[in-house]
Amino acid sequence: MNTAEQPILLQGAMDVEIAYFLAKLRNKENIVSNNFSFWQGELSESKVVVSKTGIGTAMAAGATALGIELFHPRLIINQGTAGSYKKNLDYNDIIVGEKFFNGSAVLSGADGVNSFLALNSMEKETDFARLFRTAPQYLSSNPAALKAAQKAAARYKEGKVVTGVIASFDQWNKDVDKIRRFTEATDALCEEMETNGAGTIAISCGVPFLAVRVISNNNATGTSFKGETAINCQDFVEMVLAEL
Ligand code: SAH
Repeated sequence: MNTAEQPILLQGAMDVEIAYFLAKLRNKENIVSNNFSFWQGELSESKVVVSKTGIGTAMAAGATALGIELFHPRLIINQGTAGSYKKNLDYNDIIVGEKFFNGSAVLSGADGVNSFLALNSMEKETDFARLFRTAPQYLSSNPAALKAAQKAAARYKEGKVVTGVIASFDQWNKDVDKIRRFTEATDALCEEMETNGAGTIAISCGVPFLAVRVISNNNATGTSFKGETAINCQDFVEMVLAEL
């Protein structure tokens, strides 16, 4: 049952990725559970819960499971900074994650060739060779939420808004050869460390999920991290709320 009474859970890993939300949140109430912080309140016309997940796929997954249990959200939006894999996607450009995947689910072959693993098939699969994939196991953002994000794009003035693939892992990749091979195999536009952890749990719990990222650095050209780009991501997400 999805009703307007259920909040939208807005996730960010770091303080800079939730600060703008918290500054604008009306009737703010802080709830701390198992060392994870949540803030209930209203943003735009929506009932929301802002969640600081902490960094990495494990923290994002834990915060998501807890957030679902505590608040029964009707939608989860995981958002924040990301490193671009493309020269033409740079600071303040927004990536709406139509698809995302676990870049860490990899089998490194004895021959040095990597293939992707479908983790949720591993328990029952007896023919191990069939687990090896040339493409990763993609998960998808909720189609209605994705549409709202694409509508909001017209109002975003700080950069481009592109719909595409987000790579998630507990890694920060600077090796341009690795990035080139990886993007050829996956169509990934950017990398970050939370989307797949949060998205895997949301989707497995049947909660609609949307992934949104802002480019804060460029792995392809080696530019450095700018935390202030996170403000524009939150601003964009607020525009998405208005379109839902
Ligand atoms: N404070 C650091 C950057 C943040 S580190 C600095 O000054 O360099 C990790 C966080 O940034 C994660 O939450 C991750 O989702 C995000 N992130 C931004 N760019 C990234 C990249 N190129 N690779 C991996 N994670 C990235």
